[in-house]
Amino acid sequence: MIDVHAHLESDDYSSDREEVIEKCKKELKAVITSCTHPKDFDLTMQLVDKYENFVFATVSIHPEYIKEINEKEVNEFFDMVKKNKDKIVGVGETGLDFIIEESEWREKQKELFISFISLAKDLDKPLIIHARRAFEEAIEILEDHKVKNVLMHFFSAKELLERVKNNGWYISVNTALLRSKKIKKIARDIPLENLLTETDSPWLDPQGGRNTPLNVRLVIEKIAEVKKISFEEVDKVTTDNAIQFFKLRF
Ligand SMILES: [Zn+2]
Repeated sequence: MIDVHAHLESDDYSSDREEVIEKCKKELKAVITSCTHPKDFDLTMQLVDKYENFVFATVSIHPEYIKEINEKEVNEFFDMVKKNKDKIVGVGETGLDFIIEESEWREKQKELFISFISLAKDLDKPLIIHARRAFEEAIEILEDHKVKNVLMHFFSAKELLERVKNNGWYISVNTALLRSKKIKKIARDIPLENLLTETDSPWLDPQGGRNTPLNVRLVIEKIAEVKKISFEEVDKVTTDNAIQFFKLRF
């Protein structure tokens, strides 16, 4: 079992982060933590060092932070990423978050997204996409830039699933699958070969509390149920997919 998208640097783990990771180590093969803000970069790198071969990292600036980041900070962040490229396995989550409504800020998100696409190409790393209320716009940008290695995180646009499949991209399904009919249909219709598992911890806890990567087990169970195949098969194939997609080395 691999959780390909969690946020271990979140303050929600500040009191017991090590305990949580140690518990995960007993059950999971790996956790990929997603650094979403420059302020989290150092902690992310520390986790990768400390839990070598277990915690892997993807890094980016989340589009919802567009208003609080200036150009200088973006440039500095890019430099840090390039310097630490051997410690990261992907660029993301990046994309568009249209919870922000002003068109000028949406344009800024697009510009930042395109810079991260170039960075991923330069570093030869896969891209992890966040696209709240903006899947079609994000897909169009990715197609325009002919990006091949793409993981759509928290994908909920069922009507665009064929396009994602035709591009040979991947989808990661998280604990939202336990309650969303739409995501159940997506999990049913995406080939297992294009599917990865995640929790988006600390968000999306099935009980409404703090989520942890351990709940990736519930995601695998639910995928097995909707696809009418065994837990073992989903576990094996999605784990292999994650290792291959992120080129994880243990
Ligand atoms: Zn996330």
